[in-house]
This record gives sequence, structure tokens and C-alpha cells, in this order.
Amino acid sequence: MCRTVSFRAAAAVKDGEQVILVINRISKSFENVVMTQDWHTPHHVSFASTHDGKKPFEMIKLSYGNQVLWPDHCVQGTDGASIAKDINIPQAALIIRKGFHNDVDSYSAFVEADKETYTGLASYLKERKIDTVFVTGLATDFCVAWTAIDARHAGFTVYVVDDACRGIDINGSVAKAWEDMTAAGVKKIQSSDIA
Ligand SMILES: [Zn+2]
Repeated sequence: MCRTVSFRAAAAVKDGEQVILVINRISKSFENVVMTQDWHTPHHVSFASTHDGKKPFEMIKLSYGNQVLWPDHCVQGTDGASIAKDINIPQAALIIRKGFHNDVDSYSAFVEADKETYTGLASYLKERKIDTVFVTGLATDFCVAWTAIDARHAGFTVYVVDDACRGIDINGSVAKAWEDMTAAGVKKIQSSDIA
């Protein structure tokens, strides 16, 4: 009835690897687990290095709106794109790859950043009679928040497991993400509430 989404992101998340033990522990309580995997083209539009004179964490305007620029990360077929080796969730049945369209980033596991290219995850969950989503991973203020809010838009009950996430926090973006998630009806819990 429930599931976890866990995220792989090599983007500069402080102490990001600390969430792995927590995610492994609570995953034992879930029958259905979906992972996401950033899977970027080598010169992806979200990379600062793709844009002359731009530095990581600067913002640019793209056809679909504002885009934060990141250090190069999770390039298709490289070690940086592989699922963290210490993640131990053998029952995870689906990996959603994100960010493989060169000109569109994708934080959310449900909809790419253009807000019109769907990954199919909502249908996958609904077909399996899943109505509640637990979100974990990196980063709280980007992939986790966008996934959690899109899950609410798709009609799911949504929990974010706070201590199973870490944020990047650009100019207060973690606090803002929690404001947005709370407004969307996302509930904050701790891993000790689960296992
Ligand atoms: Zn990315």
C-alpha cells in the first residue's frame, strides 16, 4: 500500500550519504519501492559548464522558466550516475531515470521541469493500487520537494521522511520548500515514525 522513493544525486549535498543508512532501514517496511536516477546527457542544459561564463548555483532563464545551474553530475553511463552502491533495497522494482532530455531538467519523479513531460510514475502507482507515497533522498529543496508536491497534485497522500533527506539550501531554499510542501498538503515525518 505504501512506497518509498529514494534519490540518487551527486549534486553537492552536504552529508548526503548519511541518508543511505536511514533509507535502507525504513525500506524494509515497504513492499513497493521506486528509485530515481539522474541520467543526464554530457552537456545537459542544467550544467553550469554548458553555458559560457556561468557558475554553479547561478540561475538562468529557459523556455520553461528559471533553472538553477549545477556542477556537472550524473552523466549517463558514468560512475557518478550509478545508484549509490550502499543502497540495499532488493525489492525496488522500478527505477525512473530523470534529466535525459538534453534541454529539460527534471527534479520531480512525476513530471519534468517543463511541467508537461510526464514520467508515467503516477499511472504506475495507481495501477498497482498504491495511494500513499513516502519520499526520501536528495535534495530536500529540489528533487524531494518537487516530487512530493507533484505526488499531491496526482492525488496521493504524501509523507516526506525528514531525516531521510538532506537539502542543498540556496538562499533559504529548504525553508521555502517546506512552506510549499506544507501548503500542498505534504506531511513531514521522521524515520522513527516508520521503523
Ligand atoms: Zn540533475
